[in-house]
Amino acid sequence: MEDEEGPQCGKPDFVLLDQVTMEDFMENLKLRFEKGRIYTYIGEVLVSVNPYQELPLYGPEAIARYQGRELYERPPHLYAVANAAYRAMKRRSRDTCIVISGESGAGKTEASKHIMQYIAAVTNPSQRAEVERVKNVLLKSTCVLEAFGNARTNRNHNSSRFGKYMDINFDFKGDPVGGHIHSYLLEKSRVLKQHVGERNFHAFYQVLRGCEDSELRELHLQRSPTLYNFTRQGAGLSVSDSDEKSHHQAVIEAMQVIGFRAEEVGSVHRILAAILHLGNIEFVEKEEGGLAVSEEVLVDHVAELTATPREMVLRCLLARTVASGGREVIEKGHTAAEASYARDACAKAVYQRLFEWVVNRINSVMETRDRDPRRDGKDTVIGVLDIYGFEVFPVNSFEQFCINYCNEKLQQLFIQLILKQEQEEYEREGIAWQSVSAAPHLGLGAGRGGAGSGPGLEPPLLLPQVEYFNNATIVDLVERPHRGILAVLDEACSSAGTITDRIFLQTLDTHHRHHPHYTSRQVPPPPRPACSGAGTSPTGATAPVSVGTGDWMPPLQECPPPPFLLCLDPGLSLSPLQLCPTDKTMEFGRDFRIKHYAGDVTYSVQGFMDKNRDALFQDFKRLLYNSTDPTLRAMWPDGQQDITEVTKRPLTAGTLFKNSMVALVENLASKEPFYVRCIKPNEDKVAAKLDEGHCRHQVAYLGLLENVRVRRAGFASRQPYPRFLLRYKMTCEYTWPNHLLGSDRAAVSALLEQHGLQGDVAFGHSKLFVRSPQTLVALEQSRARL
Ligand code: ATP
Ligand code: MG
Repeated sequence: MEDEEGPQCGKPDFVLLDQVTMEDFMENLKLRFEKGRIYTYIGEVLVSVNPYQELPLYGPEAIARYQGRELYERPPHLYAVANAAYRAMKRRSRDTCIVISGESGAGKTEASKHIMQYIAAVTNPSQRAEVERVKNVLLKSTCVLEAFGNARTNRNHNSSRFGKYMDINFDFKGDPVGGHIHSYLLEKSRVLKQHVGERNFHAFYQVLRGCEDSELRELHLQRSPTLYNFTRQGAGLSVSDSDEKSHHQAVIEAMQVIGFRAEEVGSVHRILAAILHLGNIEFVEKEEGGLAVSEEVLVDHVAELTATPREMVLRCLLARTVASGGREVIEKGHTAAEASYARDACAKAVYQRLFEWVVNRINSVMETRDRDPRRDGKDTVIGVLDIYGFEVFPVNSFEQFCINYCNEKLQQLFIQLILKQEQEEYEREGIAWQSVSAAPHLGLGAGRGGAGSGPGLEPPLLLPQVEYFNNATIVDLVERPHRGILAVLDEACSSAGTITDRIFLQTLDTHHRHHPHYTSRQVPPPPRPACSGAGTSPTGATAPVSVGTGDWMPPLQECPPPPFLLCLDPGLSLSPLQLCPTDKTMEFGRDFRIKHYAGDVTYSVQGFMDKNRDALFQDFKRLLYNSTDPTLRAMWPDGQQDITEVTKRPLTAGTLFKNSMVALVENLASKEPFYVRCIKPNEDKVAAKLDEGHCRHQVAYLGLLENVRVRRAGFASRQPYPRFLLRYKMTCEYTWPNHLLGSDRAAVSALLEQHGLQGDVAFGHSKLFVRSPQTLVALEQSRARL
């Protein structure tokens, strides 16, 4: 790998573009991609394009080239970001985090693995045993989590079906001494149903294909996934047997390294097998009345594998107990439909608890053991977030609603952190900057004129204001107490089955019909009022909306709320967001639509209440709590309660998710952030193909152009003096090959003077601030001329 990039590789930082337009951005992205340069910076944000092929960019040699270097000393790379996060954590004892985002298949999980590998490679030079143990657990945890949380989908053959945030704790030496994984919203509906071409979670196939014959017999399983309802749909089975077998082996080895006991691994296999048998149980209404299972032997298998009494299993499948006031309980027989529903709910819940148990088990062995007393027991932390990107399918349900809400929260954080980081940097470098808060609709530009008492700093130019969309209003639409969509949903779910989808939708309409980001076809929208000053708005509100058959009216149009204002380059306006091409036409009385920052998504309310309630009959919980298998029993502590004691309504899935998102965002906001923005180059998952339309859409909704503009506002670039010299010293006789000017700062000053560019910069304590991109362009040109 070359350490230096020539001009033929395009600009290593989008900030260096001559102009910030989508065309220029795409041209640079494409050029670099063609040259195998999949990484490009926007300041300290790393943009990564999935190459869909093995490139010689990784491994010990590459790691050594980035270790201990500054971000700009080497070509853009994940290792450089990992190194920057690590150095900030180590040097300044700051907690840092690396937020990886992008759509499914964009390369987030691969990126997180490279980051982990980098951190593992550069730490623990003294080979302390405990640190080595933690590192091994960290590295091996990925393999185990992928087996239980990933699945083949049409968009990605190894798609993470859960969100993951991992904290790595470091001691004062900078060595990893512990960690913690948080998982978010596993897509458990996949246990029951998979789309055409897709599969269930890998773990099921690995057990079927990978177990020895004897073990398979003990599990009462046969090899073929086509024999089981839960693994035969979708027909996405084309993973070779040998691959499946070697993955199975790798997962078992990883579990052993992590510290799972052999009997625990056995329990895990039995639980997976029990779920598969459960999925094959069907119900038949008996002629004489009542219900029976189609194949009693399957009940035997489930009972044996879950170590529970057979009669109890059968009772749970065919009936439920309900409290009838006081301590009275009665048994109520299921209809066939109710029994199928209960069976499915049980299968999903058992898998979810299994997944959570695996995560907790890994966490239990990563708890920091050797706390450093000098830091009052507090370690420094690097967090790595690998979480699902914005999703839009032909039919979008509760899961997409949660995932897209998560993306709104993260986008909001991105906006806030960009501002915060800018401020902090100016303050650190002794450059005056009027304090700003990230309140919505705040004009930042006006306050900045006249500031400028930093060392050697001329008063900054008054920069014009350019719109930057703050999505706080969409977050509010979802999470606002009492009226937000989640609150209305909870209210609907608490009304004992009397609320229909239509009533739920009507209530949403009542609360939000005037919200600029909400529409439904429950109530036909009134005609569009005139909107003065229309132009391109980042809300897309003035863009004509036509989707599907076109019988759907444009959303209720009001003048968009005053957008969030940032002080940006002159002459820039934001393009309206593209509509996602897969979004379907709304159906009257069934759908609502949210105008997300990334595009419009229509949600079908069907199943929303059910998924939000996420109910499982207490009988199943009690059954599994009473298992004689200690591993399974430990997954069901809430099964202790008797039905007459279950009075408190559990928190709904939506509320739990909202709470976890609020906590996640708070956690990230308390750390110094680094961003990796992943782009998927094409939908065919093939190498060397960059589909421009597809990439443009991602560039737009990831807010990358805005990111470049924000970075260039005020000061297009800021670089430590040594780094600046490294890149440009060859353009000046006083600095090439080395300078004798006392300090790097003096050398930079001499270099700029020779180019006649000293009027466009400010000298911070350790960095040079360059105001206009033209200055950088001029320097780049003289470098290229050599
Ligand atoms: P999801 O949201 O579905 O989990 P993701 O963003 O995590 O998607 P990955 O699973 O990381 O996507 O990547 C998808 C596939 O792309 C990988 O299995 C791998 O084949 C390929 N890929 C991603 N990054 C790289 C890379 N840096 N080098 C080579 N191949 C890559
Ligand atoms: Mg992933």
